Amino acid sequence: MHQLTLAEIARGLADKKFSSEELTKVLLARITQLDPQLNSFISLTEDLALQQAKAADARRANGESGALLGAPIAHKDLFCTQGIRTSCGSKMLDNFKAPYDATVVAKLAAAGAVTLGKTNMDEFAMGSANESSYYGAVKNPWNLEHVPGGSSGGSAAAVAARLLPAATGTDTGGSIRQPAALTNLTGLKPTYGRVSRWGMIAYASSLDQGGPLARTAEDCAILLQGMAGFDPQDSTSIDEPVPDYSAGLNGSLQGLRIGVPKEYFSAGLDPRIADLVMASVEELKKLGAVVKEISLPNMQHAIPAYYVIAPAEASSNLSRFDGVRFGYRCEDPKNLEDLYKRSRGEGFGPEVQRRIMVGAYALSAGYYDAYYLKAQKIRRLIKNDFMAAFNEVDIILGPTTPNPAWKLGAKNSDPVAAYLEDVYTITANLAGLPGLSMPAGFVDGLPVGVQLLAPYFQEGRLLNVAHQYQQNTDWHTRTPTGF
Ligand code: GLN
Repeated sequence: MHQLTLAEIARGLADKKFSSEELTKVLLARITQLDPQLNSFISLTEDLALQQAKAADARRANGESGALLGAPIAHKDLFCTQGIRTSCGSKMLDNFKAPYDATVVAKLAAAGAVTLGKTNMDEFAMGSANESSYYGAVKNPWNLEHVPGGSSGGSAAAVAARLLPAATGTDTGGSIRQPAALTNLTGLKPTYGRVSRWGMIAYASSLDQGGPLARTAEDCAILLQGMAGFDPQDSTSIDEPVPDYSAGLNGSLQGLRIGVPKEYFSAGLDPRIADLVMASVEELKKLGAVVKEISLPNMQHAIPAYYVIAPAEASSNLSRFDGVRFGYRCEDPKNLEDLYKRSRGEGFGPEVQRRIMVGAYALSAGYYDAYYLKAQKIRRLIKNDFMAAFNEVDIILGPTTPNPAWKLGAKNSDPVAAYLEDVYTITANLAGLPGLSMPAGFVDGLPVGVQLLAPYFQEGRLLNVAHQYQQNTDWHTRTPTGF
């Protein structure tokens, strides 16, 4: 049963082949048995899951239907869940039980999804390897000595290992697409404003966006359908109608214009990944797509701009963790200053402290113009590059990551080496565009992802292209040995 996709589960439940309660019990047992190898969960919510599963079965018995009714999922541990620990991967929030549900959590629960637990993540979503979690590193099910990618690495590893069919993630600079690529999943970062950020613990507010991680584009469509939509409680949420994503999966790709940016193929990209990217282009050509070389001339400035803007916003967002209002408080503070210093010094890990320092520096008087303002100008240029490109093409295609999953610990002594892994993903966040990563082959037994980018609110186009690709390839069906 653990091999079933969300779409197959929906059919099985509708045909009464099994109940949500049965399925939930199978998956909870599987998680208990196999997760010690992976460390992909921070909390299991068994009681809640069984209660939700029974309620979903009762709703079905009453004639209700719906693709998510009774479907088991998990949430990245930065989505607030009422009465349940919401740790953000940090000692700072180890004892924090959220007083309310995030909009995404509430919407999916209302649709009948069953929450199996909260997944491991890089501390405050800062990282590309899922090694900065207070709860320990997550392992990649394709090779337990390698990282699963980050920061939604727990969600990715769990879904890739068939512990459950799908999970939520968030993407500030690649944290859905990059772990999807490194674990052979399909992951979608929606347009900024498409999915509510209310109740999602903030890292960098102008970049953060929640989205689905699943094995197929078809399943991402189902999960995104439950997550997307206007939320008056999030001032950056956009009031645009949500299309029927599943209904749009079968559109023809005849005449689809694919742009391949020449800047993507510079030194730094593993040549074996470059070959797999071009093979995916050939596959899409067979389905009727036409290919054009394009240019994104400001791409080289994206990493420096992102690593000023994201830490700047983080330094502001994380100032709320002061040892007073919520979260960790140090023992025996001598005075207020000592309370602040030690609570933050002991509660935050080294990567979070590094980002807060960089961000506070970039925002300080005298440096603001030189760093923060300049980074914002680069951000505009990057957006303009995309706008020009989308005048000529319908989607942009390239690698999701320059390398396959690296060995645990390999980049720990050099934070910049890890930052460089984000080169293909962060531009979509800087511009607010939707992006998807889909499985496209293997290098040394490790999965490789291809990234598709589309104009604002064209998530449906990304899902359509990925679904058509997946109807004609079988990379996404490959299962890691032992799972
Ligand atoms: N790797 C990037 C960072 O560390 C992106 C993380 C994310 O998308 N949350 O900031």
